[in-house]
Amino acid sequence: VYILAIESSCDDTAAAVLCNEKVLSNVVANQLIHNQYGGVVPELASRAHQQNIVPVIEAALKKANIKKEQLSAIAFTQGPGLMGSLLVGSSFAKSMALALQIPLIAVNHMHAHILAHFIDEKGFDKPSFPFLALTISGGHTQIVRVDDFFDLTIIGETTDDAVGEAFDKSAKILGLPYPGGPLVDKYAQLGNPKAFPFTKPKVPGLDFSFSGLKTAILYFIQKKKIEKPEFIEENLNDICASIQYTIIEILMDKLKMAVKETGIKQIAIGGGVSANSGIRNTLKETETKYGWKTYIPKFEYTTDNAAMIGIVGYQKFLSQKFETAEVVSKARIQF
Ligand code: ATP
Ligand code: FE
Repeated sequence: VYILAIESSCDDTAAAVLCNEKVLSNVVANQLIHNQYGGVVPELASRAHQQNIVPVIEAALKKANIKKEQLSAIAFTQGPGLMGSLLVGSSFAKSMALALQIPLIAVNHMHAHILAHFIDEKGFDKPSFPFLALTISGGHTQIVRVDDFFDLTIIGETTDDAVGEAFDKSAKILGLPYPGGPLVDKYAQLGNPKAFPFTKPKVPGLDFSFSGLKTAILYFIQKKKIEKPEFIEENLNDICASIQYTIIEILMDKLKMAVKETGIKQIAIGGGVSANSGIRNTLKETETKYGWKTYIPKFEYTTDNAAMIGIVGYQKFLSQKFETAEVVSKARIQF
C-alpha cells in the first residue's frame, strides 16, 4: 500500500510517501517568515502553503521514487489547526484523489502525533496496547489512553496554555527569539535546575495548567531586573534550567498519577516538545526508577511532519475508513 500524506495544519507544509508502515520520503518546508513577527501569522501561513504545496509533494514523490499513478490513497490533515492552512492541504488532497480516482483519508493531527510511534523505523520499538500517550506540542498538552489504533481517550489535558506555549512565552520574557522552546532547552543544559524555584500550579485530577507559571516567571524577572538590569544575561542558563525543571515536574507529576490510576506503565511521548532533552532524559530515567517502558519517537517525527499523517492514513486504509470530497476541515476536532 502506497500512501501520499499531506500535512498543512499550521506553519509547515509537509508531504510524505509511505509503503505500508515504512517511510519512503518525508519532506517539510518550514515557513521562516513568521519568526520576525514572534508567532505564526495565519494569513501568511496559508499563502505560503499555497506556494509550497506543489513543490513539496513533487519532492516527496520523487524522493520516494513513486509515480502518482502507483498511489493507493491520499491522506491529509483534517484538523485541528488554522482553518486557512488546513484548507490548502484538504483542497489539494481532494482534487488529487479525485483526479487519480483513489480513496481520500482524513487524519486528526493529534491522532497522528500519537500513532507516529507505529512508523517502522530501525532501532525504534512500537508500543503495544494499551499505552499512555503524553502529547506535548505548541497547541496541545494531553494524556491519552490508547487502547487500539482508533480507540483513544483523553484522560487529562491543559486547562489553559499548552506546554509548548509555556516554553515559547517564557523564552519571550527572557528576550529570546521565537520559537524559544529549543533555545530554553539549549541553555537549560548548562544551568542549575534548582537555582530559582517556581511554584507548581494546583490543578485537580490529570489536567494541567501552565498560564500561572508564565505569570510567575514574568513577575520574577521584572523584580530581578529592577534590582539588577543585567540579571537575565548573567543568569540565563540557570533561569532556563529552572523553568524547564518546573515544566518537567508538572508533566511528570500528572504522568505518575495517570500510571497509578490506569495501571498502564507503557508511556509514549509525542509532539514538538518531546524533542526537549530534559523531558527525554527524565522519561528514560523512569525505566529504572519506576519500571516504566517509554517510547520516544525519532526527532523528525516529533515536530510537525507528514509521515505521521501517513501512518494514520495506512491504518485507516486497512480499515477502509474513507471520505468523500464533502469532508470538511475542522479547526477543532475530537478523536
Ligand atoms: P499542535 O501539534 O498542538 O497543533 P504544533 O504542531 O504547532 O502544535 P509542534 O510543531 O508539535 O506544535 O511543536 C512546536 C512546539 O515545540 C513549539 O512550542 C516549540 O517551542 C516546541 N519545542 C520544539 N523543540 C523544543 C525543545 N527542544 N524544547 C522545548 N520545546 C520545544
Ligand atoms: Fe503538531
